[in-house]
Amino acid sequence: MSPGGERVPPSSPDMEIDLPDKNMNTCQANGEKIQDRDSKRIDYVPKIKWPDFLAQVFIHGGCVYGFYLIFTQAKLLTSLWAFLMIYTSGFGITAGAHRLWSHRAYKAKWPLRFILVLLFTITGQRDAYTWALDHRVHHKYSETDADPHNAKRGFFFAHVGWLFTTPHPDVVAKRQAVDMSDLEADPIVMWQKRLYVPLFALLAIGFPVAVPWYFWSESLWVSFWVNFNFRFSVTLNIAFFVNSVAHMWGQRPYDKNISPVENIAVSIAALGEGWHNYHHVFPWDYKTGELGHYSFNITTGFIDAFAYLGWAYDRKYVSPEMVRRRAKRSGDGSHVWGYGDRDIPEEDLKELEAMDKKD
Ligand SMILES: [Zn+2]
Ligand SMILES: [Zn+2]
Repeated sequence: MSPGGERVPPSSPDMEIDLPDKNMNTCQANGEKIQDRDSKRIDYVPKIKWPDFLAQVFIHGGCVYGFYLIFTQAKLLTSLWAFLMIYTSGFGITAGAHRLWSHRAYKAKWPLRFILVLLFTITGQRDAYTWALDHRVHHKYSETDADPHNAKRGFFFAHVGWLFTTPHPDVVAKRQAVDMSDLEADPIVMWQKRLYVPLFALLAIGFPVAVPWYFWSESLWVSFWVNFNFRFSVTLNIAFFVNSVAHMWGQRPYDKNISPVENIAVSIAALGEGWHNYHHVFPWDYKTGELGHYSFNITTGFIDAFAYLGWAYDRKYVSPEMVRRRAKRSGDGSHVWGYGDRDIPEEDLKELEAMDKKD
């Protein structure tokens, strides 16, 4: 697909959806085909949304310049500040917009929700309500025409193209059908939605750019390109990798019939969000992964730390037995769950059984 996104790649259903009686649109949910009887014939040609396209060009073009400034003019503290911002604000996406607001995988008291909404605003990824709405549609209609960033339309579309092209009519229809009453009842989410533009100016631009200028006399010019464009682009692209890379390259231990994969590189970059085959199979698990020491799933550590304080609670997860049953039924065979696994050699098993025996 061209960067302009005008052409749809050949793998796309080419937006010529046949009449329901001929060939009904199908979607996959947990490996089962669900027939969507509402499909109608639609001639869809995606068009570029020019303001959104130019915004992406500005963000990414400025990122390259910011990267250049990091090596030529920026103070070390300014670069460290950008790095710190990327990895603290990221929790606003992972623990906030994703695990809390999109999936309700745990509950959070208002001080934590307030912290998360501020962190999420720093990332500049639209308001949490809109983000969660698209994410719910993505899970429910994954890799159909109704998926806002349908990975079947190619890497570029799933990564960024979907943000500056007109959506497929099925996406528009399903966005209207998703129940968002829980978020509509959350005053913190609705406050951020209502005041998104001034909050974006203050937290996504003003705060990250002003701190290096005020505290260590960095020039505003340098701080802007490093702490707005560069920082913003890095966070954006890490989040985009979950929609592109983690739907393409990796293993499928829990369900080989869906495209999301387990990808360790994405997990490291995205604070534990790359265990995507697991996540699409068990989307309510607050850990979004089965394995996941905190080192490869820092967001789980973040939520657990707040659970220790009592600000996060009702964490939902999946029992090891449930995971094992599912992996056996639909996995690609790459699931190794631990003690008792069929793949453990017999002599190892004997040795294990002899360990720590009580007389
Ligand atoms: Zn999700
Ligand atoms: Zn996904």
